[in-house]
Amino acid sequence: QEMTRTRSYVDGSWHDGNPPLIGPRSHAMWLGSTVFDGARWFDGLAPDLDAHCQRVNRSAEALGLKPTMAAEEIERLTWEGLKSFDGSTAVYIRPMYWAEEGGYMGVPAEPESTRFCLCLYESPMISPAGFSLTVSPFRRPTPETMPTLAKAGCLYPNNARAIIEARARGFDNALVLDMLGNVAETGTSNIFMVRDGVVHTPVPNGCFLNGITRQRIIALLRGDGWDVVERSLTVADFASADEIFSTGNHSKVVPVTRIEGRELQPGPVYRQAREAYMAFARAGR
Ligand code: PMP
Repeated sequence: QEMTRTRSYVDGSWHDGNPPLIGPRSHAMWLGSTVFDGARWFDGLAPDLDAHCQRVNRSAEALGLKPTMAAEEIERLTWEGLKSFDGSTAVYIRPMYWAEEGGYMGVPAEPESTRFCLCLYESPMISPAGFSLTVSPFRRPTPETMPTLAKAGCLYPNNARAIIEARARGFDNALVLDMLGNVAETGTSNIFMVRDGVVHTPVPNGCFLNGITRQRIIALLRGDGWDVVERSLTVADFASADEIFSTGNHSKVVPVTRIEGRELQPGPVYRQAREAYMAFARAGR
Protein backbone atom coordinates (compact mmCIF):
# COMPACT_ATOMS: atom_id res chain seq x y z
CA GLN A 1 0.00 0.00 0.00
CA GLU A 2 1.32 3.46 -0.89
CA MET A 3 1.36 5.20 2.46
CA THR A 4 0.65 8.77 1.50
CA ARG A 5 -0.73 11.03 4.20
CA THR A 6 -3.58 9.11 5.83
CA ARG A 7 -6.01 10.03 8.60
CA SER A 8 -8.43 7.50 10.03
CA TYR A 9 -11.30 8.08 12.43
CA VAL A 10 -11.87 5.03 14.64
CA ASP A 11 -13.74 4.72 17.94
CA GLY A 12 -14.05 8.45 18.51
CA SER A 13 -10.62 9.75 17.58
CA TRP A 14 -8.36 10.46 14.60
CA HIS A 15 -5.19 8.46 13.91
CA ASP A 16 -2.30 8.85 11.46
CA GLY A 17 -1.26 6.08 9.12
CA ASN A 18 -2.80 2.63 9.16
CA PRO A 19 -3.99 1.69 12.70
CA PRO A 20 -4.60 -2.05 13.25
CA LEU A 21 -8.34 -2.72 13.43
CA ILE A 22 -9.28 -6.39 13.20
CA GLY A 23 -7.96 -9.46 14.92
CA PRO A 24 -8.10 -13.16 14.12
CA ARG A 25 -11.40 -13.54 16.03
CA SER A 26 -13.13 -10.74 14.12
CA HIS A 27 -16.13 -11.72 12.01
CA ALA A 28 -14.83 -9.48 9.20
CA MET A 29 -11.44 -11.22 9.16
CA TRP A 30 -13.03 -14.62 9.02
CA LEU A 31 -16.06 -14.04 6.78
CA GLY A 32 -15.37 -10.83 4.90
CA SER A 33 -18.24 -8.86 6.42
CA THR A 34 -16.98 -5.48 5.26
CA VAL A 35 -18.60 -2.67 3.27
CA PHE A 36 -17.09 0.58 2.10
CA ASP A 37 -17.70 3.57 -0.07
CA GLY A 38 -15.44 5.88 -2.04
CA ALA A 39 -15.75 9.62 -2.61
CA ARG A 40 -13.30 12.34 -3.59
CA TRP A 41 -12.12 15.73 -2.38
CA PHE A 42 -10.29 17.84 -4.99
CA ASP A 43 -9.98 21.62 -5.49
CA GLY A 44 -11.95 21.94 -2.24
CA LEU A 45 -14.87 20.03 -3.78
CA ALA A 46 -16.54 16.78 -2.67
CA PRO A 47 -19.35 16.20 -5.20
CA ASP A 48 -22.20 13.92 -4.08
CA LEU A 49 -20.54 13.29 -0.70
CA ASP A 50 -24.03 13.02 0.84
CA ALA A 51 -25.00 10.22 -1.58
CA HIS A 52 -21.79 8.28 -0.83
CA CYS A 53 -22.40 8.55 2.94
CA GLN A 54 -25.99 7.37 2.50
CA ARG A 55 -24.88 4.45 0.32
CA VAL A 56 -22.37 3.08 2.82
CA ASN A 57 -25.22 2.79 5.33
CA ARG A 58 -27.41 0.98 2.78
CA SER A 59 -24.49 -1.33 1.93
CA ALA A 60 -24.09 -2.17 5.63
CA GLU A 61 -27.79 -3.04 5.95
CA ALA A 62 -27.61 -5.25 2.84
CA LEU A 63 -25.02 -7.41 4.65
CA GLY A 64 -26.97 -7.52 7.91
CA LEU A 65 -24.72 -4.96 9.62
CA LYS A 66 -26.38 -2.22 11.66
CA PRO A 67 -24.97 1.18 10.67
CA THR A 68 -23.82 3.03 13.78
CA MET A 69 -23.51 6.46 12.14
CA ALA A 70 -26.06 8.77 10.54
CA ALA A 71 -25.04 9.67 6.98
CA GLU A 72 -24.91 13.36 8.01
CA GLU A 73 -22.51 12.45 10.82
CA ILE A 74 -20.19 10.72 8.34
CA GLU A 75 -20.29 13.86 6.17
CA ARG A 76 -19.50 16.08 9.17
CA LEU A 77 -16.58 13.84 10.19
CA THR A 78 -15.26 13.92 6.62
CA TRP A 79 -15.10 17.72 6.61
CA GLU A 80 -13.49 17.64 10.06
CA GLY A 81 -10.79 15.20 8.91
CA LEU A 82 -10.18 17.06 5.64
CA LYS A 83 -8.87 20.02 7.67
CA SER A 84 -5.67 17.93 8.13
CA PHE A 85 -5.00 18.07 4.36
CA ASP A 86 -3.67 21.15 2.60
CA GLY A 87 -5.52 20.51 -0.67
CA SER A 88 -2.38 20.32 -2.83
CA THR A 89 -3.25 16.66 -3.53
CA ALA A 90 -6.74 15.20 -3.92
CA VAL A 91 -8.04 13.01 -1.09
CA TYR A 92 -9.84 9.68 -1.24
CA ILE A 93 -12.73 9.44 1.27
CA ARG A 94 -13.45 5.89 2.40
CA PRO A 95 -16.07 5.20 5.09
CA MET A 96 -16.26 1.53 6.12
CA TYR A 97 -18.25 -0.77 8.36
CA TRP A 98 -17.39 -4.29 9.42
CA ALA A 99 -18.67 -6.89 11.89
CA GLU A 100 -16.54 -7.55 14.96
CA GLU A 101 -18.57 -10.31 16.66
CA GLY A 102 -20.82 -12.94 15.15
CA GLY A 103 -20.80 -16.61 14.28
CA TYR A 104 -20.52 -19.35 16.88
CA MET A 105 -18.76 -22.72 17.14
CA GLY A 106 -17.35 -22.30 13.65
CA VAL A 107 -20.76 -21.61 12.07
CA PRO A 108 -20.80 -18.58 9.78
CA ALA A 109 -23.69 -16.75 11.37
CA GLU A 110 -25.09 -13.26 11.30
CA PRO A 111 -22.72 -10.36 11.95
CA GLU A 112 -22.97 -8.55 15.27
CA SER A 113 -21.41 -5.45 16.88
CA THR A 114 -20.87 -3.36 13.77
CA ARG A 115 -17.80 -1.13 13.78
CA PHE A 116 -17.08 1.99 11.75
CA CYS A 117 -13.97 3.62 10.35
CA LEU A 118 -13.55 6.66 8.13
CA CYS A 119 -10.24 6.67 6.25
CA LEU A 120 -9.01 9.73 4.34
CA TYR A 121 -5.83 9.55 2.28
CA GLU A 122 -4.01 11.60 -0.32
CA SER A 123 -4.54 10.24 -3.80
CA PRO A 124 -4.01 12.41 -6.90
CA MET A 125 -6.79 12.73 -9.48
CA ILE A 126 -5.77 10.67 -12.51
CA SER A 127 -5.60 12.60 -15.76
CA PRO A 128 -8.18 11.20 -18.17
CA ALA A 129 -5.88 10.01 -20.95
CA GLY A 130 -8.00 6.95 -21.69
CA PHE A 131 -7.78 3.20 -21.14
CA SER A 132 -8.17 -0.10 -22.98
CA LEU A 133 -10.84 -2.75 -22.39
CA THR A 134 -11.17 -6.45 -23.13
CA VAL A 135 -14.13 -8.75 -22.50
CA SER A 136 -13.55 -10.73 -19.32
CA PRO A 137 -14.11 -14.48 -19.01
CA PHE A 138 -15.36 -13.74 -15.47
CA ARG A 139 -18.94 -12.61 -14.84
CA ARG A 140 -20.85 -10.49 -12.34
CA PRO A 141 -22.85 -12.52 -9.81
CA THR A 142 -26.63 -12.21 -9.69
CA PRO A 143 -28.43 -10.68 -6.67
CA GLU A 144 -29.39 -14.23 -5.66
CA THR A 145 -25.77 -15.35 -5.46
CA MET A 146 -24.05 -12.35 -3.89
CA PRO A 147 -25.13 -9.10 -2.15
CA THR A 148 -24.62 -7.19 -5.40
CA LEU A 149 -26.48 -4.07 -4.30
CA ALA A 150 -23.97 -3.48 -1.50
CA LYS A 151 -20.55 -2.00 -2.09
CA ALA A 152 -19.14 -4.95 -0.16
CA GLY A 153 -15.52 -6.03 0.04
CA CYS A 154 -16.52 -9.63 -0.69
CA LEU A 155 -17.53 -8.70 -4.26
CA TYR A 156 -14.14 -7.32 -5.19
CA PRO A 157 -11.93 -10.41 -5.48
CA ASN A 158 -14.07 -11.23 -8.53
CA ASN A 159 -13.44 -7.77 -10.00
CA ALA A 160 -9.74 -8.12 -9.16
CA ARG A 161 -9.35 -11.42 -10.98
CA ALA A 162 -11.07 -9.91 -14.03
CA ILE A 163 -8.59 -7.01 -14.00
CA ILE A 164 -5.60 -9.30 -13.40
CA GLU A 165 -6.67 -11.50 -16.31
CA ALA A 166 -7.17 -8.48 -18.59
CA ARG A 167 -3.77 -7.03 -17.68
CA ALA A 168 -2.08 -10.35 -18.39
CA ARG A 169 -3.42 -9.99 -21.94
CA GLY A 170 -2.13 -6.40 -22.25
CA PHE A 171 -5.31 -4.43 -21.45
CA ASP A 172 -5.90 -1.86 -18.71
CA ASN A 173 -9.31 -3.03 -17.54
CA ALA A 174 -11.97 -5.70 -18.07
CA LEU A 175 -15.42 -5.38 -19.61
CA VAL A 176 -17.43 -7.65 -17.32
CA LEU A 177 -20.70 -9.26 -18.44
CA ASP A 178 -23.63 -10.37 -16.29
CA MET A 179 -24.83 -13.99 -16.17
CA LEU A 180 -27.07 -13.43 -19.22
CA GLY A 181 -24.11 -12.21 -21.25
CA ASN A 182 -25.09 -8.54 -21.30
CA VAL A 183 -22.46 -5.90 -20.58
CA ALA A 184 -22.52 -4.96 -16.87
CA GLU A 185 -19.58 -2.68 -16.02
CA THR A 186 -15.79 -2.60 -15.96
CA GLY A 187 -13.75 -3.99 -13.08
CA THR A 188 -13.79 -0.57 -11.42
CA SER A 189 -16.47 1.65 -13.00
CA ASN A 190 -19.73 1.96 -14.93
CA ILE A 191 -19.73 2.06 -18.71
CA PHE A 192 -21.40 4.19 -21.41
CA MET A 193 -21.36 4.07 -25.21
CA VAL A 194 -22.45 6.49 -27.95
CA ARG A 195 -23.87 5.46 -31.31
CA ASP A 196 -25.27 7.88 -33.92
CA GLY A 197 -25.59 10.67 -31.36
CA VAL A 198 -27.52 8.59 -28.77
CA VAL A 199 -25.94 7.69 -25.42
CA HIS A 200 -26.50 4.13 -24.13
CA THR A 201 -25.63 2.55 -20.79
CA PRO A 202 -26.58 -0.81 -19.25
CA VAL A 203 -29.90 -0.74 -17.42
CA PRO A 204 -29.43 -1.54 -13.71
CA ASN A 205 -30.57 -5.17 -13.27
CA GLY A 206 -29.09 -5.88 -9.86
CA CYS A 207 -25.91 -7.39 -11.31
CA PHE A 208 -23.74 -4.27 -11.16
CA LEU A 209 -23.34 -1.18 -9.04
CA ASN A 210 -25.68 1.62 -10.12
CA GLY A 211 -22.90 4.12 -9.50
CA ILE A 212 -23.45 7.54 -8.01
CA THR A 213 -21.26 9.07 -10.74
CA ARG A 214 -23.23 7.10 -13.35
CA GLN A 215 -26.53 8.51 -12.09
CA ARG A 216 -25.07 12.02 -11.94
CA ILE A 217 -23.70 11.83 -15.52
CA ILE A 218 -27.04 10.53 -16.88
CA ALA A 219 -28.85 13.48 -15.26
CA LEU A 220 -26.27 16.03 -16.47
CA LEU A 221 -26.25 14.71 -20.07
CA ARG A 222 -30.04 14.66 -20.20
CA GLY A 223 -30.04 18.21 -18.81
CA ASP A 224 -27.77 19.19 -21.70
CA GLY A 225 -30.26 17.70 -24.18
CA TRP A 226 -28.64 14.31 -24.89
CA ASP A 227 -30.82 11.26 -25.37
CA VAL A 228 -29.56 8.75 -22.75
CA VAL A 229 -31.03 5.24 -23.06
CA GLU A 230 -30.68 2.65 -20.27
CA ARG A 231 -31.07 -0.80 -21.80
CA SER A 232 -29.50 -4.24 -22.16
CA LEU A 233 -26.31 -3.91 -24.20
CA THR A 234 -24.17 -6.59 -25.81
CA VAL A 235 -20.47 -6.77 -26.55
CA ALA A 236 -21.41 -6.23 -30.22
CA ASP A 237 -23.06 -2.91 -29.29
CA PHE A 238 -19.84 -1.76 -27.63
CA ALA A 239 -17.64 -3.14 -30.42
CA SER A 240 -19.43 -0.90 -32.93
CA ALA A 241 -19.74 2.20 -30.72
CA ASP A 242 -18.61 5.65 -31.87
CA GLU A 243 -17.51 6.48 -28.32
CA ILE A 244 -17.08 4.59 -25.05
CA PHE A 245 -16.40 6.13 -21.65
CA SER A 246 -16.57 5.04 -18.03
CA THR A 247 -17.73 6.74 -14.84
CA GLY A 248 -16.74 6.30 -11.21
CA ASN A 249 -15.95 8.38 -8.17
CA HIS A 250 -12.21 7.81 -8.46
CA SER A 251 -11.48 9.34 -11.86
CA LYS A 252 -14.97 10.68 -12.67
CA VAL A 253 -15.30 10.34 -16.48
CA VAL A 254 -12.60 8.60 -18.53
CA PRO A 255 -12.59 7.70 -22.27
CA VAL A 256 -11.99 4.19 -23.54
CA THR A 257 -9.36 4.41 -26.28
CA ARG A 258 -9.27 0.72 -27.29
CA ILE A 259 -11.74 -2.14 -27.10
CA GLU A 260 -10.17 -5.47 -28.04
CA GLY A 261 -8.26 -4.70 -31.25
CA ARG A 262 -10.21 -1.54 -32.14
CA GLU A 263 -8.91 1.95 -31.38
CA LEU A 264 -11.31 4.73 -30.38
CA GLN A 265 -10.88 8.45 -29.87
CA PRO A 266 -12.19 10.43 -26.87
CA GLY A 267 -15.37 11.96 -28.31
CA PRO A 268 -17.63 14.96 -27.84
CA VAL A 269 -20.04 13.25 -25.42
CA TYR A 270 -17.14 12.22 -23.18
CA ARG A 271 -15.80 15.78 -23.21
CA GLN A 272 -19.20 17.28 -22.46
CA ALA A 273 -19.88 14.74 -19.69
CA ARG A 274 -16.57 15.54 -18.03
CA GLU A 275 -17.02 19.29 -18.37
CA ALA A 276 -20.61 19.10 -17.05
CA TYR A 277 -19.45 17.02 -14.07
CA MET A 278 -16.75 19.53 -13.15
CA ALA A 279 -19.22 22.42 -13.51
CA PHE A 280 -21.66 20.54 -11.26
CA ALA A 281 -18.87 19.94 -8.70
CA ARG A 282 -17.88 23.63 -8.69
CA ALA A 283 -21.50 24.76 -8.36
CA GLY A 284 -21.81 22.80 -5.12
CA ARG A 285 -18.86 24.53 -3.48
N1 PMP B 1 -18.64 -0.34 -10.46
C1 PMP B 1 -17.70 -0.78 -9.60
C2 PMP B 1 -17.37 -2.22 -9.55
C3 PMP B 1 -17.05 0.13 -8.75
O1 PMP B 1 -16.13 -0.31 -7.89
C4 PMP B 1 -17.36 1.50 -8.84
C5 PMP B 1 -16.64 2.47 -7.96
N2 PMP B 1 -17.33 2.61 -6.73
C6 PMP B 1 -18.34 1.92 -9.74
C7 PMP B 1 -18.96 0.97 -10.54
C8 PMP B 1 -18.74 3.36 -9.85
O2 PMP B 1 -19.52 3.75 -8.77
P1 PMP B 1 -19.51 5.24 -8.21
O3 PMP B 1 -19.76 6.15 -9.36
O4 PMP B 1 -20.62 5.26 -7.23
O5 PMP B 1 -18.18 5.46 -7.62
